[in-house]
Amino acid sequence: MSKSKSSESVKVVVRCRPMNEKECAAKFERVVSVDVKLGQIIVRNPREASASELPKVFTFDSVYDWNSKQIDLYDETFRPLVDSVLLGFNGTIFAYGQTGTGKTYTMEGVRNDPERRGVIPNSFEHIFTHISRSQNQQYLVRASYLEIYQEEIRDLLSKDQSRRLELRERPDTGVYVKDLSSFVTKSVREIEHVMNVGNQNRSVGATNMNEHSSRSHAIFVITVECSELGVDGENHIRVGKLNLVDLAGSERQAKTGAQGERLKEATKINLSLSALGNVISALVDGRSSHIPYRDSKLTRLLQDSLGGNARTVMVANIGPASYNVEETLTTLRYSNRAKNIKNKPRINEDPKDALLREFQEEIARLKAQLQKRSGKKKRRRQRRRVGEGSDAEDLEEGETEDDDEDGEDKGDYWREQQEKLERERKAIMEDHSLVADEKVRLLKEKEKKMEDLKKEREAGEMLAAKVKAMESKLLVGGKNIVDHTNEQQRMLEQKRQEIAEQKRREREMQQQVENRDEETLELKETYSSLQQEVDIKTKKLKKLFAKLQAVKAEIHDIQEAHINDRQELEQTQNELTRDLKLKHLIIENFIPLEEKNKIVNRAYFDEEDEYWKMKPITRIEDDQQMMTRPLSAVGYRRPLSHHARISMMMRPDMRYKAENIMMLDMDLPARTTKEYQEPVIAPKVAAALEDALRDEDEIQVDASGFHSNLGPTPPASTSGSLKKPKSGRPRTGKKSSTPTSPFSPSSPGSPLYPQSRGLVPK
Ligand code: ADP
Ligand code: MG
Repeated sequence: MSKSKSSESVKVVVRCRPMNEKECAAKFERVVSVDVKLGQIIVRNPREASASELPKVFTFDSVYDWNSKQIDLYDETFRPLVDSVLLGFNGTIFAYGQTGTGKTYTMEGVRNDPERRGVIPNSFEHIFTHISRSQNQQYLVRASYLEIYQEEIRDLLSKDQSRRLELRERPDTGVYVKDLSSFVTKSVREIEHVMNVGNQNRSVGATNMNEHSSRSHAIFVITVECSELGVDGENHIRVGKLNLVDLAGSERQAKTGAQGERLKEATKINLSLSALGNVISALVDGRSSHIPYRDSKLTRLLQDSLGGNARTVMVANIGPASYNVEETLTTLRYSNRAKNIKNKPRINEDPKDALLREFQEEIARLKAQLQKRSGKKKRRRQRRRVGEGSDAEDLEEGETEDDDEDGEDKGDYWREQQEKLERERKAIMEDHSLVADEKVRLLKEKEKKMEDLKKEREAGEMLAAKVKAMESKLLVGGKNIVDHTNEQQRMLEQKRQEIAEQKRREREMQQQVENRDEETLELKETYSSLQQEVDIKTKKLKKLFAKLQAVKAEIHDIQEAHINDRQELEQTQNELTRDLKLKHLIIENFIPLEEKNKIVNRAYFDEEDEYWKMKPITRIEDDQQMMTRPLSAVGYRRPLSHHARISMMMRPDMRYKAENIMMLDMDLPARTTKEYQEPVIAPKVAAALEDALRDEDEIQVDASGFHSNLGPTPPASTSGSLKKPKSGRPRTGKKSSTPTSPFSPSSPGSPLYPQSRGLVPK
């Protein structure tokens, strides 16, 4: 089923970012130098005097310094990997390194800047360009985007961002994320949109994006399925999956003093990353038969990429400044080990879960349905075009042409049918021999037929639309292959690739030459004198001694790092033990023994979810059956006293019909009246009305001259009564309560009748 290939190593490249502004401003020393030609990274120790300690040298498949361009990395390192994904291999690109060293820059780069785009957008372009240039192949491209944060998997493309997904395993296809959404994309624009949506969701959940991204792993997955006619005359499908992984920052998370939730968080943050390290160690070790993939979500998910059947490139990102030297060395050691992982890449041919196959089958099914619908019509047509032949099934152009004609045919067909029905309807209307009833019935029948016809037509159209939509998702190239610019572009790419390949070979050769130099030196040498021999051998000894020292220093460093690791693990263990002891203490002292036993009996470990779970409460004697709520009285739904039961039988009294479980509260009748609502009156009108209907004595009159002589003003302040605009009626009752009639002695305005205000015509 699948073509095996000999094993190949995980490719490891190192990229050193430029000094950033802060580092330049603080005048940090640069301790990393990069020998691009030799593929070496040289790290000086900034503390000691340079003479006492030799610089540390690491050799990789290729290395990139601060001047490296994104496109260089892509062409030399990533393009071959993406190419093999297009051939049906699985491929993985990891970015590993301390926070702030350029992982995200390498993977995503700077959006909207074509020069500084990272691997992910560059691979979009690459994949869709490849498809547009392909011939006689059908492609289906889909994308997923997920994040692992504190050992929880979040689907970055799902609507529900609070949901956590689980890993599942199937014997045929391996580990996968259950219910992970994936979007079929037809163009670069579409897949970019998918990425943007995911990136947005990634930052939504995070309070501090920087911190969040340094603690979580983001995996963008592109699945490319390709269907092609094989030599055996059958269609074969190859599926390549490209995992693009932006790992969490590799720096140690400070754990000191963490407790409770924070401790749990701290232990989980880099669990996946340390598990990754353990997997790499175990793979490289060669002695351990057990590879601890299951220790974390990340390693389980990427099991194929490490020692499996995928091609893998690891990009180790480092910073150049002196204060990062420890982390830089750790990163270099880590990736140095990864170089030795062996994978056995193979093409995935005709896997069971190919979506493309499903699509093709569904399209074929729908097309058959469509064919059946228009079968009658077609047969008639076909009789007319005998000899034309319809063997253009495989040719896309031929098929589309056919489709168009079909469309017209169908249109004609529907029109004919409709006209026919219309004619029949008219005939019935005009037919005077029919009884009215009969006429109506026939008309109804015809109308129903027309309705059916319409429905059928709509269904047919929907089917056709569906077929079109599905077909549009299957991408075929080859249409603009003759395009001249395309051709040039391709040549250019090819040349670039050749150059990259040449560079790589050159580097390899140079590395080999270096190695061989030392070996052959000895063989070639013949000594003319004893003294010369002594000299040369002394020189050589010195060289070897230096080498020995370097190795010793390295061993020392590694031991130190190891001790640090161990101490940290011990500390974590102590903290966890303390936590566990506390929980034990609580259980011992506060939970009754039998309750505890019950819980212990119910608890079990779910292998699939890797989680402790509780079995539902069961009957003791029968393990299988859920315990139901006990019945209080056989035959009745609720407890009944003896008296109630007797009364129920003897008397027709509703009171004891306990079985009636309906609510029998009386329903209130629907209300037929309304609350009184005053009409809404415009404020101007209201004011005018108020004025017009005011009691005369309420009207304010300029009587200031009288006030002093005539005692205190009446208690009902005039401004107060004026402020009641709501009432539309004259307040007749008011007269009696406040004696303010024009003739009353207290009224200050009695002699001065107001003038007409012209509102009410006299
Ligand atoms: P990480 O994802 O590893 O935490 P980033 O990718 O966010 O780091 O990089 C940190 C900063 O350094 C960003 O502002 C990025 O633009 C810059 N940077 C990283 N690598 C390079 C590079 N090779 N060239 C230019 N700038 C870089
Ligand atoms: Mg980042």
